[in-house]
Amino acid sequence: MNSVANNYNRKKIVFSHGKGIYLFTNKGEKYIDLAAGIAVNLLGHSNKDLINALNVQSRKLWHVSNLYEIEEQVTLANKLTSCSFAHKVFFCNSGAEAVECTIKAARRYHFSKGKPEKTEIITFKGSFHGRTLGTIAAASNSSHLEGFGEPLKGFVSIERNDINQLKKACNEKTAAILIEPVQGEGGINVFDREFINSLQVIAKEMDLLILFDEVQCGVGRTGKIFAYQWFDIKPDVMALAKGLGGGFPIGACLMRDDIAEALIPGTHGSTFGGNPLAMAVGNCVMDIVNKVDFLSNVEKNGLFFKNQLNKLCEKYPNVIAEIRGLGLMIGIKCSVANNLLANKLYENGILTVNAADNVIRILPPLNITMSEIKKVMSLFEKSIKEIL
Ligand SMILES: *Cc1c(COP(=O)(O)O)cnc(C)c1O
Repeated sequence: MNSVANNYNRKKIVFSHGKGIYLFTNKGEKYIDLAAGIAVNLLGHSNKDLINALNVQSRKLWHVSNLYEIEEQVTLANKLTSCSFAHKVFFCNSGAEAVECTIKAARRYHFSKGKPEKTEIITFKGSFHGRTLGTIAAASNSSHLEGFGEPLKGFVSIERNDINQLKKACNEKTAAILIEPVQGEGGINVFDREFINSLQVIAKEMDLLILFDEVQCGVGRTGKIFAYQWFDIKPDVMALAKGLGGGFPIGACLMRDDIAEALIPGTHGSTFGGNPLAMAVGNCVMDIVNKVDFLSNVEKNGLFFKNQLNKLCEKYPNVIAEIRGLGLMIGIKCSVANNLLANKLYENGILTVNAADNVIRILPPLNITMSEIKKVMSLFEKSIKEIL
């Protein structure tokens, strides 16, 4: 008997424990985890510092409501603002909730400035923002909207990197531009530099906010603490989740001061958001990511990984068409069906995750080592040879 809902296509495999980049099944098989729970297990499995942080907090206090000051929240919020554009942080439990908060903050900001008509949000094709009614409307992916009735109004979806289309889409009702600077589910699509760099000018001209969805690409994944730092831009609001808890559910919405001011008491909330357990782990994740050399290692190892994959791409163009991405957020666009290569990798003990556009995503724990990457590469080549 299995009473779990049927909304996922699950592999018939059960993992019982993990260590670093490895996952072990209940039958004792070992896999290299390059999916990391879809960019969640930022520091690998069973990280001793995270276990310790959770254990220590679990003996003190699990939950108090947001009716009271929560010290661990203040600490994590301060850490997030001191390494970003933001001044204030709202905590929730997931990526979709964090993105919902960016949308609500943008609309409420304009409302508080006496412009309640500014409600429309411009979004980009190929983006993924979550599975709530608001976030599926935002992403406008027809397969995610089908069967769920009339989508929430107020979203205009346009092509990536098309500045003319963007200018045309802006009007006096536009509240914000919502952008996922490196599209994860969409196939590891990095937005063009010039396009992102031009957003700020348009935003200023049209009195719009810039909302970044860094739920997948944030918290060190790209080799910078936040992906926006690869560009000459400052977001006004930013959603984080996935890697921020290293496996513990956390979401966060980072905001500029004057935007946070619009969310006065009573306008937004979350029962579990920012609970002490989540905050203890989040604080520990941020401390590790902020250590000297951590991010430069992500960048270095990401480049090495990409270079090695590019060599395979040159050698086996009939299997691999293109390598793209930033840091340890890498997309392998396949010449064969992505499932064919993904299944072959799986047979050889490597876990990956597919994305749109016939892409296989590589999202390993950020503390993966050079020698582990070398080992992965030999298994990659073996898998490709087996396909040919
Ligand atoms: C995963 C993801 C979300 C949704 O996160 P959930 O925790 O599943 O709600 C939103 N935006 C991006 C970019 C994501 O990758």
